[in-house]
Amino acid sequence: MSAQLSRDDWKGRVGGLSYRNQAFIGGKFMPSLSGKTFDCVNPATGKILTQVAACDKEDVDVAVKIARAAFEGGKWSTMAPARRKAIMQKFAALLLKHTDELALLETLDMGKPIQYSTRVDIPGSANAINWFAEAVDKVYDEVAPTDPRVLALITREPIGVVACVVPWNFPLLMAAWKIGPSLAAGNSVILKPAEQSPLTAIRVAELAMEAGIPEGVFNVLPGMGETAGQALGRHMDVDCVAFTGSTEVGKYFMKYSGESNLKQVWLECGGKSPNVVFADAPNLDVAARTSAFGIWFNQGEVCTAGSRLLVEEKIKDEFLEKLMAVGQKMQPGDPLDPKTQMGAMVDETQAKRVMGYIEAGKKEGAELKMGGERTYIDNAGAFIPPTVFDKVENKMKIAQEEIFGPVLSVITFKDAEQGLKIANDTIYGLASGVWTSDINKAFKFAKGLRAGSVWVNTYDGGDITTPFGGYKQSGIGRDKSLHAFDKFTQLKTTWVQLS
Ligand code: NDP
Repeated sequence: MSAQLSRDDWKGRVGGLSYRNQAFIGGKFMPSLSGKTFDCVNPATGKILTQVAACDKEDVDVAVKIARAAFEGGKWSTMAPARRKAIMQKFAALLLKHTDELALLETLDMGKPIQYSTRVDIPGSANAINWFAEAVDKVYDEVAPTDPRVLALITREPIGVVACVVPWNFPLLMAAWKIGPSLAAGNSVILKPAEQSPLTAIRVAELAMEAGIPEGVFNVLPGMGETAGQALGRHMDVDCVAFTGSTEVGKYFMKYSGESNLKQVWLECGGKSPNVVFADAPNLDVAARTSAFGIWFNQGEVCTAGSRLLVEEKIKDEFLEKLMAVGQKMQPGDPLDPKTQMGAMVDETQAKRVMGYIEAGKKEGAELKMGGERTYIDNAGAFIPPTVFDKVENKMKIAQEEIFGPVLSVITFKDAEQGLKIANDTIYGLASGVWTSDINKAFKFAKGLRAGSVWVNTYDGGDITTPFGGYKQSGIGRDKSLHAFDKFTQLKTTWVQLS
């Protein structure tokens, strides 16, 4: 059981891993048609784990053809929901059964601590698949309240071929939020993992087959965004793209759609979320601890990271002291050590990008209070410790742009009106937090926040039952909850004139 494994146990298991590194199309592993591969690197050591098939437009054409044929063939798309449910539940059970293996792949591939891969990423992915499977034979269609001489049916139908394009920060979990509802609804799916983190996606394709998902219904195409990702976005026979990633790339997908077949495009994009702490927060120790995890969990590579801490002026010093004390205990460590709370940044590029923001913060005149220097474990790796900037103004680059790293910008406010103004002064609107004991203030503030999620007296709460997505440039559409089916189904109206 993973709960009892030590760092040495995990290290010992690395040698026994076999890496699936090819595309999975039509129920078979295959190299890319060009034969090209790309290096898959462990960011904690800088060493190459394996070489992965670099799929391109030609591979996309093949995968879409096969996915379309599977959809039209109807084995999955017209299967009774209760049968799809049973197969997907088996798929979820297989993910759980392989938790240790998948968690190890995730940690080696993108640098996150093993304790979170085992406790959050893999069980969370299995839960998402299972939840949508469970739901699919309990969602009814509608009959419209028309004139009695008419029977108007409003039915949900699968869309067809769905491309899921996902990022590297929670590789399998972000994929599961999309493949769960899209497969449950009866679609054929092509998953393109991020180039930094393809390993779990490729492995679970095999588990999906083992569970009984028919050939061609679930395909995985590793490759670069500019090639494989773009080819999916521009393909004339892809009906829907469900994307999680940066706002910049999200906009490309809108463009690809407009320039091709007007496929549906759903976007879960970036954030610069305000976490607003009033002086009357119910418990400042709890608020400090939760806010620390809100920014430093997953090395800060979290779309909802509470990266702007808005703290009421009169408690700023006291609160920062408490928060930094938690940060001091969260220093980066070997991701394979079960005690490690912060692992490696996903790659060198991301580490350099984050360090660039730290330099920008210093140049703009913010005060570096903690962290800010790269560190190494065993002389290697892309590690950055918890970093805090005080005296940040909301117009500064480090307060406006998504850093996607462990960098916190601290901004003070005098009253609720000013706090709300600063909180909403961003192009993003993914998430937000507010800490106060005053219920009126909490609700008023929550109502005023322009964000898809508002957490009151906590941060990053939620489970699969609650919708997740962004206002403004944080996205379009919602993952999780029954609302996720809206992305992966079409509504058909059948109007029957009764005689
Ligand atoms: P990117 O936007 O760079 O990439 C996301 C996916 O898009 C990857 O699979 C990538 O492939 C692909 N892609 C990149 N460029 C193109 C292109 N030109 N055309 C088509 N596809 C492309 O995001 P990151 O992977 O760097 O992830 C970090 C971002 O994800 C952050 O902005 C974060 O906020 C956001 N995110 C949002 C979440 C949400 O739910 N709102 C959750 C998690 C992350 P490749 O890797 O091969 O380049």
